Amino acid sequence: MTNQRHPVHLSIASSSEIEHTARQLKVTREEFLISGILPQHPPRPMILESWRRCHAMRVNPSLRYAPLAVTHEVQLYHLREASQLVMRAARPVMSHLSDFLADSGYVIVLSDADGCLLEVTGDAGVRRRLASIDFVPGGDWSEAAAGTNALGTALADGHVVQLLGAEHYCSGWQDLTCTAAPIRHPLSGEIMGILDVTGNYRLIRPFLSSFIAAMALQVQQEMRELLTPTRKGKFQATFQTATFSSSRGTSSRAFTMNTDRKQHRTGEDVPGTSTGDDLRLLLRMQKKRVHNAELLAAAVSAISASLDIDVTLEKVAKQTANLLRLESASVCLFGESDEMVSLHTWSKQSGWRLTSPHDLVALLGQSEVVSLIRERGEPVIIDDVLTSVILPASLLQQRGIRSLLLLPLIAARGAIGFILAPKCIHYHWTVDDVLLGLTLAAHAATAIENARLFTSLQQHTHHVEVINDLAQLLSTLPDPSQQFEVVLRHIVEIVDMDAGMILLRDQPADGLTLAAHCGLPEAVPLDLCKPSLRAFHNVACLIMTTGKSLMTCNIERERHIICEPLDTVGVCDLMVVPLATGNTTLGVLLIGSLSHRKLTTEDLALLTSMGQQLGLTLTNARLRRTASEMEALREADHLKSQFITAVSHDLQSPLTAIRASVEGLLDQGGVQSAQMHEHLLHNIAGQTSRLDRLVGELLDLSRIEAGVLLFDRDWIKLPVLIADTLAKFEELHSGCRVERDLAADLPLQYVDPIRLAQVLWNLLENALKYASSCTSIKVEARWTRNEVLIGVADHGPGIPTDEREKIFQHFYRLERDQGTHTQGSGLGLAICQGIVQAHGGRIWVEDQPEGGSVFRFALPLPTASLTELEPLEKTELFGVNTEE
Ligand code: ADP
Repeated sequence: MTNQRHPVHLSIASSSEIEHTARQLKVTREEFLISGILPQHPPRPMILESWRRCHAMRVNPSLRYAPLAVTHEVQLYHLREASQLVMRAARPVMSHLSDFLADSGYVIVLSDADGCLLEVTGDAGVRRRLASIDFVPGGDWSEAAAGTNALGTALADGHVVQLLGAEHYCSGWQDLTCTAAPIRHPLSGEIMGILDVTGNYRLIRPFLSSFIAAMALQVQQEMRELLTPTRKGKFQATFQTATFSSSRGTSSRAFTMNTDRKQHRTGEDVPGTSTGDDLRLLLRMQKKRVHNAELLAAAVSAISASLDIDVTLEKVAKQTANLLRLESASVCLFGESDEMVSLHTWSKQSGWRLTSPHDLVALLGQSEVVSLIRERGEPVIIDDVLTSVILPASLLQQRGIRSLLLLPLIAARGAIGFILAPKCIHYHWTVDDVLLGLTLAAHAATAIENARLFTSLQQHTHHVEVINDLAQLLSTLPDPSQQFEVVLRHIVEIVDMDAGMILLRDQPADGLTLAAHCGLPEAVPLDLCKPSLRAFHNVACLIMTTGKSLMTCNIERERHIICEPLDTVGVCDLMVVPLATGNTTLGVLLIGSLSHRKLTTEDLALLTSMGQQLGLTLTNARLRRTASEMEALREADHLKSQFITAVSHDLQSPLTAIRASVEGLLDQGGVQSAQMHEHLLHNIAGQTSRLDRLVGELLDLSRIEAGVLLFDRDWIKLPVLIADTLAKFEELHSGCRVERDLAADLPLQYVDPIRLAQVLWNLLENALKYASSCTSIKVEARWTRNEVLIGVADHGPGIPTDEREKIFQHFYRLERDQGTHTQGSGLGLAICQGIVQAHGGRIWVEDQPEGGSVFRFALPLPTASLTELEPLEKTELFGVNTEE
């Protein structure tokens, strides 16, 4: 038979409970003050008495306060005399609290069960303020307590109460927060007084509730000790058992005290009142309660000590087992969708371990029991599992469990899990067990939530750091998409795993190719088609289709397909995330460990963020590449158009000239003078050779570009080659004198002499063409340790700085020369550059300090290996005419 009991609440009142009580009291009070008719459910006598006084004084019902009743000193004496036991018991606690809270804006107040102030200590400033409204010992706080303040609620409900902005019936104190705990008589459980802390603080401090509750318990214990015979000579009391059962809060005291030490000895029968047995029983019970309270305090402080979630869970399980004297206890936490996600067990034999929550589901029978906890936050108490209909008794019995207590862990957001307290014997759970368990569970829920918050904060910080770290690396790499190995190694290192792989979508084939790998066991052949790697490939394909991250330890379905092949390559745990941006998955990142790790969903979330970051970088790199390819294509297109325009123009002008000359010859039908005849023929010859030259240049260029311009190299003496070329140049351009500055000891060069002469010739012709005076041309040749330098200088207009590189491009002509009569195709320098570069050299132009420009080209000196070379066989020689 299921035996569920309704435990007596020993709880800290929730704000809604307080509000409810307060609202009700306020409304009833107002009605009473107006009508004088007693409500159907009258409040505690103490409150009622206060209302009666207000009624008699014709206090305006809407007035939120009534004057405090101040007693005369004699009355105060009597008051204290009557509460001597509680006052004496509370004294050490009051002084301890007072020291502890010092001048922090708190006062510590001890009131009797009727709300009369017995003692007010603590912050002097606050005390002064309170004194101004007669809040002094002897003040009948019941006026204030009659309504909505913490003290009143504590008295009304017997709860430990914390109230923010307590609405007192005295003006000026609406902002105070008050925390109050009832002090109960150690034997009868009667409320003997209230210990409360009130002050100038606005913040609710949950710890204060437990703290004051503990202090109230200590007062209770102190009272118990004062009442025991061992404290002989200190304090002795006689109890009138008749009053134990009397209703609380009447004007008569719940007990009477006799300070005459000689008259009575506690423990001895008091004639006509109670038997010694009853007293002993009561004392034993109280002793046990105090002992429990001590155990509870120790357990609570143990579970609140750590912010590590694992440690906290372990402590919760262990402390529950200790507190309820069990062999073991478990903590089960609910996941986001209320499923059971983790189950931690502590047992005396095997210590702390994580078990599968599925075990628990089986154990609790698909959990009607669990829904009781989850939805209603109620504890479940089962004294004998065999008689239970809602539990799979046989399963529980198999595990040796006979009795069960399930304590809900209730946090601000609802039930977060429960504590499972099993007993191996058929056992009647006591009210004390339940009370202790529930109190511990309440504290445990807060401790677990705190630890979780702290853990998630730490994880968040770590997450941000790691992502930043990766972002930093990616931003320093010139092209991360070309350096996957570096990126992968970095990721493997920061997630503290062993091996990794990046597979990218192969665009045309729509398959996956291995872009990078690291840390795999050497024996694994890096071919995705090989059986050993097919497992990675398969799981990667799955991610490409679903776009969702996966962790092998989370896989339920397809476990054998995915995990077993991984075992064969020595990978234990694997996390696989997509490299994705938006809806596009560009590839997959696989990170594995060669030994078992405790991977969590947070690890997977972190790796997923990394995958996204990498995906974004990849997309950016691709976009950048496409953009530069587009730019190159646009440039090529532009050059091609320029080329066509230039070629058509350059071909057209000599052709037009030839046609004009031929037509001249034909038209005049031989009647023109011999001089004219000759002029026309010369013109035709000149334009033909211009055409020939242009076509030759075009051919050279296309061969240079296609890399098929062959060179016929030989060992030559440069001074001879230069001198020959200059001589021919001067001969062709009569009257043109080129200055020479040639080092005599120039080393032999292994070059194609005809092509080199072509370069020199071109530069000389440009100098002549653009510098207007041929006398100022100078050719110099010298050599350094590495290269031979040849320069052709002129005193022409020079080259504008921003066009110095452009003049080596095909068809490029300086802006100032475009559309002038100076003939040119813009190909000469491009060909020169092609020839020089094919010889391993470079060509450039410089300014001359005195005006004009120097075109220089440098050829590397022959290397030792080259000097041993036999002259190359002539394979092809394209005609180069340097003698136009
Ligand atoms: P072309 O002379 O047939 O136009 P080049 O490639 O030889 O073609 O020269 C490219 C351009 O460089 C010329 O059109 C001219 O504008 C400029 N240039 C070349 N050499 C000189 C020079 N010595 N002085 C000034 N401008 C020059």
